[in-house]
Amino acid sequence: MRKMMTYLRSFTLVELVRGMGLTLKYLLFKSAVTINYPFEKGALSPRFRGEHALRRYPNGEERCIACKLCEAICPAQAITIEAEERADGSRRTTRYDIDMTKCIYCGLCQEACPVDAIVEGPNFEYATETHEELLYNKEKLLANGDRWEAAIAANLAKDAEYR
Ligand code: SF4
Ligand code: SF4
Repeated sequence: MRKMMTYLRSFTLVELVRGMGLTLKYLLFKSAVTINYPFEKGALSPRFRGEHALRRYPNGEERCIACKLCEAICPAQAITIEAEERADGSRRTTRYDIDMTKCIYCGLCQEACPVDAIVEGPNFEYATETHEELLYNKEKLLANGDRWEAAIAANLAKDAEYR
């Protein structure tokens, strides 16, 4: 009897009709769960770990004090820092490189930084065609910070009470 029912079902294409009905239901009566990227973009968490950036203070001074905590904590050894003392006695980096192809986006550099200088910003659209383009230097990281400062500051403010 069961064999007969299976045969009849396959002969009348019941499963196919039911499947098409389900497709039509989602097509006509349900709102889309996909977005038309890159013209539409989904919401990101304030804790999203995207492309790295080095931030400045509002007066334009670099936040980074070259303490090297980020370099020390980076499990991928992706960060390379060199530093020297300036004429005014402050300590600043002369070199700050991140090999983005080594980075595992763990966020530990951001957590270790005492002055919120190195952060993982909201940008996720930085695919490149060559390995060299993902070897970031200080100029690139500072430029990222300048570009994304408003969004980064807003995200840090949203997350501040949980830190
Ligand atoms: S996110 Fe993690 S792996 Fe990437 S640079 Fe920072 S500490 Fe290193
Ligand atoms: S980015 Fe932060 S943790 Fe890294 S060297 Fe500069 S001040 Fe220190």
